[in-house]
Amino acid sequence: MTGAAPATIVFGAVYATVVGLCVGSFLNVVAWRLPRGESIVRPRSRCPHCSASIAARDNVPLLSFVILRGRCRTCGESIAWRYPAVEAGSGVLWLASWLVFGPTFDGLLAAVFCSLMLVLAIIDASHLLLPDPLTWGGIGVGLAGSFAVSWTTPRDALFGAAVGAGGLLLLIGLWYLLRRVRGMGLGDVKMLAAVGAFLGVGGTLLTLFLASLIGALAGLLLMVRGRLGWSSRLPFGVFLAMGAVVSLFFGPRLIAAYASLL
Ligand SMILES: [Zn+2]
Repeated sequence: MTGAAPATIVFGAVYATVVGLCVGSFLNVVAWRLPRGESIVRPRSRCPHCSASIAARDNVPLLSFVILRGRCRTCGESIAWRYPAVEAGSGVLWLASWLVFGPTFDGLLAAVFCSLMLVLAIIDASHLLLPDPLTWGGIGVGLAGSFAVSWTTPRDALFGAAVGAGGLLLLIGLWYLLRRVRGMGLGDVKMLAAVGAFLGVGGTLLTLFLASLIGALAGLLLMVRGRLGWSSRLPFGVFLAMGAVVSLFFGPRLIAAYASLL
């Protein structure tokens, strides 16, 4: 974005953040309803405690949470902090996509990819589930986007999806041979295939590496604190999402740094 007037950059950054906040609000709806088999478009959002439908003025991302001091206007029950956190997270990711890729198709696809990773991470964290419409949908959008995006090609995206699915299936198989338990599910396989469709082969391998690292650290931490046994399942999709977002924004730099070490 060099050369653009400062006012244009500021306006764009604010705009991207506001869109990201609104998308985050929608992701909250998807994360609540999709695992429960409810429609995503109807009816209006309701308070999970008193079922009062939430008025538009109380449904403004972040702002309503602050104005209502984190409580439902009708029953006064506290609203889970997860809702504003997801909205803020989405706002930050859309802002980052704008700052890194600018007002380009790259920027838009990056933001869509981040939103997908965010919603998959929330659903996996609370349900240990990665819904097919999101993973298969992601594979489709990623492959379609590869025709127009600058960081990958359709060929690389197709190989990325195959390497992602194949690599994770191999890991699951090895883990099963070693420990006789299924550490991950087919949802994780489809999710990494979607990451591959968006990021290509390099980004997929980096994502798998980072996710394994983050997952191992998180697992060790939980075991040390006595909250996890060998057979417990961790939401690996959360770690995949973290690895994928890092790969998107820092992948080329990380790979270059690693190559210079060799
Ligand atoms: Zn209520």
